[in-house]
Amino acid sequence: MYIVQIASECAPVIKAGGLGDVVYGLSRELENRGHCVELILPKYDCMRYDHIWGLHDAFMNLWVPWYGGAIHCSVYCGWVHGRLCFFIEPHSGDNFFNRGCYYGCNDDNMRFAFFSKAALEFLLQSNKRPDVIHCHDWQTGLVPVMLYEMYKYHGMEYQRVCYTIHNFKHQGFAGVDTLWATGLNRESYYFQSDKLQDNFNPFALNFMKGGITYSNAVTTVSPHHAWEARYTDIGYGLGHTLHLHQDKFTGVLNGIDCDFWNPKIDRYIPSHYTKDNFEEKAKNKKALRERLLLQDVDKPIIAYIGRLDEQKGVHLVHHTIYYALQNAAQFVLLGSATESGINNHFRHEKNFLNSNPDVHLELGFNEELSHLIYAGADMIIVPSNYEPCGLTQMIGLKYGTVPIVRGVGGLVNTVFDKDYDQTKPPEERNGYVFYQSDYHALESALERALKLWYNNPEEFRKLAIQGMEYDYSWNNPGAEYVEIYDHIRHKW
Ligand code: ADP
Repeated sequence: MYIVQIASECAPVIKAGGLGDVVYGLSRELENRGHCVELILPKYDCMRYDHIWGLHDAFMNLWVPWYGGAIHCSVYCGWVHGRLCFFIEPHSGDNFFNRGCYYGCNDDNMRFAFFSKAALEFLLQSNKRPDVIHCHDWQTGLVPVMLYEMYKYHGMEYQRVCYTIHNFKHQGFAGVDTLWATGLNRESYYFQSDKLQDNFNPFALNFMKGGITYSNAVTTVSPHHAWEARYTDIGYGLGHTLHLHQDKFTGVLNGIDCDFWNPKIDRYIPSHYTKDNFEEKAKNKKALRERLLLQDVDKPIIAYIGRLDEQKGVHLVHHTIYYALQNAAQFVLLGSATESGINNHFRHEKNFLNSNPDVHLELGFNEELSHLIYAGADMIIVPSNYEPCGLTQMIGLKYGTVPIVRGVGGLVNTVFDKDYDQTKPPEERNGYVFYQSDYHALESALERALKLWYNNPEEFRKLAIQGMEYDYSWNNPGAEYVEIYDHIRHKW
């Protein structure tokens, strides 16, 4: 099969979060299964050019219709750790992708509407006719809309679209100007409740709703989150739309790239280990302490890695710092905040705790350090308010770092409580789960984990090894996506 992924991120060249990991990991898995995969991405000025091999001109004269005129674009091509990627660079006063950031601009909806249009125009003009186009999140929600309403009539009638939603919170709202810019025009047609009109604001177009409505298959990143999106407010107003399109909507759990996240071969950690020589993990713990200037004492290390924002349950992350310190544990945090209030809060905490030998707060994004933390910590907390899939708990499991998670979204599908899980026998349980988002619930799980670490180290070790035995690689999700692609390719 010939598959083209259109996305706003692809790790490690463009990574703001899990979306980048998924786009890269899934593409690699599909190629390993013998499919031809290409990626189309924006050419941001701030992406990691050092991760692109052999960047060269691929299509220098791409004219993308825009507002009745056209914007000239160059398309470059290069390999990102083996994946063939096309990067679109527009030349216009809008400077869409030369902003020193991936997201967060006032005209983000226009930037990504343009990118969606340019990606389709590139496929059309370069005569690429993939069997399946796989789009991701609100940024590319207009791809299936334009494919079905416009490009189908220009020779792209056989292309099928799979649309994956990684986060329902960001849906991409726009006004009528997007219709004029992209050439979709027909205001009264698109501002209808069965098309792009937002379910709550009749004067707004909703890109993600368009993606759901017009795609042949829609997925989100875990089965439990698919349920939450339909039946709870986690769907952020799209529950009804998902309900209408329930026949084509499923949840496919993300995987992790086990060549990159693997304590057996990880190039960023000093001591490699597997479940058979688990004691080697202790050397990474020592290295982590040295690196972060923590005292070397007989205490467990609890870690948090991830964005610092409301979604991730920052109030519980903050609470864990002090709970750990009061209960003879060490705490390590690696995270970055985009919101200034949260950023200031954690900066303040960092200064306050600076001289404490049992805690380290590292504010910023640091891929290399994250590997050492996964390998060196004993436990990892994921106390999210909501979590579509979550990668950090799966990476933690792979590194024998016991996850302590809130039972939401993909965390429900991946972590099974040592003491209370009803679905798995004791020898298949792998972590701790709590459900409410208050301190008491969090503490009940932390307390059980710390007690086991102190009172029954052999049992704790067994629990960590049971976690390492889970296969959360791309193997299963890869097979599920191929099945979905096959299904939509043969359905007319
Ligand atoms: P998100 O909601 O951000 O997509 P996920 O759990 O799905 O959360 O994915 C987070 C990914 O980003 C993981 O690979 C994690 O290791 C990585 N990550 C998050 N924050 C940081 C950071 N500050 N430094 C390094 N890696 C990070």
